Amino acid sequence: MLVVEDVSSLRVKLDEIPPETTVGFVPTMGGLHAGHLALVDASVAGCDKTVVSIFVNPAQFAPGEDLAAYPRTLDADLSHLRAAGVDMVFTPPPAAVYPSDFCTYVTSAVGDAATNAASEGASRPTFFRGVATVVAKLLVLVRPTCTYFGRKDAQQCAVVRRMVEDLWIGLTTRVVLVDTVREQDGLAMSSRNVYLAPQEREHASVLYRALCAGREAVDGGERDSDVVRERIRRIVAEWEATSKPPGVSFELMYVSICSADDMREVKGNIREDSGEVLACIAALMGKARLIDNVLLL
Ligand code: AMP
Repeated sequence: MLVVEDVSSLRVKLDEIPPETTVGFVPTMGGLHAGHLALVDASVAGCDKTVVSIFVNPAQFAPGEDLAAYPRTLDADLSHLRAAGVDMVFTPPPAAVYPSDFCTYVTSAVGDAATNAASEGASRPTFFRGVATVVAKLLVLVRPTCTYFGRKDAQQCAVVRRMVEDLWIGLTTRVVLVDTVREQDGLAMSSRNVYLAPQEREHASVLYRALCAGREAVDGGERDSDVVRERIRRIVAEWEATSKPPGVSFELMYVSICSADDMREVKGNIREDSGEVLACIAALMGKARLIDNVLLL
């Protein structure tokens, strides 16, 4: 497995790959867990060569967020990737991605504050500018046949899919979405779960339980989005009232029933003919900001 820090060396190595070879690309911020490795496995299974990037992207962290504290576990990450059969790992230093005169960013209106007040875009106003910019740069650099993203980050999937289409990157690269990998109790795996104190970790699966209750309502025939939203909120509120330990700080940030394509909030009834519909949730538990979603229809 080749580990490359330098942009032009990576391009030289990629250019040595014969043109008929398919290349899968998995962008990550490291701190790798089984969720990331599911993307890697999908790429290794689906493409001839697999390239992974590990880059903690400063542009997607707002001032005061956890850029400095973000888990960095490069040695362990590389041994996981080696074992998974990855061919190349790109680990650029920040200055290689954002030189001092860098001034061009990609922005997306998908799920921004103007289109959905209960979204990641609304909660973290500059986040998707950072994500879209680094993903665009990496896709232009690697020019993969397929690129793999986790459904865990629903708005990221929507932003990337739309960006790839809008910027014609999709003419050469297909975006493949991979299902969320969960801990045994249902908590979605995330690099940030290491921030959870033991008592918080014990209770963090309440978000998934609440989402599942919403999905059960839809499975049972419920179509009123207000009822489904309320059902999800009620599970969280009941947990807060009856089970939350006093030492666990918790704030529900949003519950959203929205279209997976454009992240617009569903008003009124959930329609069966309007593409995938998601229930999304975000909450602060202790120091960890947790997000999750499930497919409703
Ligand atoms: P990150 O390192 O957090 O930027 O994530 C890199 C990629 O892994 C993104 O496409 C994420 O959506 C995906 N990912 C993170 N956690 C999971 C998970 N639990 N299941 C599936 N994919 C995930």
